[in-house]
Amino acid sequence: QVKGNGKNSFNFITEEDQEKMEKAIRLETDLFRAVELDCEQFRVCYQPKVNLSTEKITGAEALIRWKHPEFGFISPVNFLSIAEETGLILPIGEWVIRQACNQNRLIQQLGYEPIKIAINLSVVQFFQPDIVQTIKRIITETKANPLYLEFEITESVAMSDFNLIEKRLKELKSLGVTIAMDDFGTGYSSLNYLKKLPIDTLKIDQSFIKDIHDDQHDQTLIKTIISMAKGLNLHVVAEGVEMASHADLLKKENCQEAQGYFYSRPLKSKNFLKILEDSQAFNSISEAN
Ligand code: C2E
Ligand code: MG
Ligand code: MG
Ligand code: MG
Repeated sequence: QVKGNGKNSFNFITEEDQEKMEKAIRLETDLFRAVELDCEQFRVCYQPKVNLSTEKITGAEALIRWKHPEFGFISPVNFLSIAEETGLILPIGEWVIRQACNQNRLIQQLGYEPIKIAINLSVVQFFQPDIVQTIKRIITETKANPLYLEFEITESVAMSDFNLIEKRLKELKSLGVTIAMDDFGTGYSSLNYLKKLPIDTLKIDQSFIKDIHDDQHDQTLIKTIISMAKGLNLHVVAEGVEMASHADLLKKENCQEAQGYFYSRPLKSKNFLKILEDSQAFNSISEAN
């Protein structure tokens, strides 16, 4: 009997595999270097979340970007797994939290109406014993307002020991921040977890939104997730809203907030502040009238 899956036997490495491995090793070396260089090759972009009915900006998600000195911009999807495997996610993650807290502080200083800045936490970060201490220290140092910080965790977090997750979430929430469940619907979190854990927001994964018009099942799922979230008193955000028709359908289903290219791509801090200003200026005029 032949081992492996048919034509490609295990001990045959194609040129393509070889290149992939070399690239991965190269990226790992360069990622270490990027951290040594005080993270200056990284940047955080901010993607607005908007209220679906007013289209006013209610928050922003902080998303890391890496400008590799040779390869140019590399998507987080392509370097975060390396960061997690090597532990580099800890210094990188801390750097992101600090940037996002500075942004939170800047928004206050510039006199904008406060909006929530959301930060993604990887599973590795979440289960770090001193993660809450670290976040607390960064909040203090940056003078950020924790009431306007949100942490996004994924369902992969919810796959481990319930008591530990609950304890960690409670510690986090004691700082005054809120918690969102990211990419909801793609993982394995049980309804029981959702009901019992101190989670504030559900972010419906973008894969459901993408096929919303062609796929009757996705439409049904979205409706179900929204009404379930309402029942559990959770805030709902739809991710990956790319078209007006997506937004219309979500509005009809009483989804509160949305995030996606239809509203804006992730923006550099300066550009984000500009559209925030427009969003809030427009609103104060319409409120005055
Ligand atoms: P995520 O947290 O689910 O973030 C949303 C992703 O969807 C972002 O990809 C965003 O650019 C993209 N997106 C937003 N709107 C649209 C849309 O309308 N259509 C499509 N097709 N995509 C849209 P990005 O920035 O490449 O990040 C990918 C993932 O990497 C994130 O998914 C998050 O899991 C992770 N990530 C990004 N930044 C950080 C970070 O600072 N720390 C950690 N731990 N993870 C991060
Ligand atoms: Mg996220
Ligand atoms: Mg997501
Ligand atoms: Mg994702």
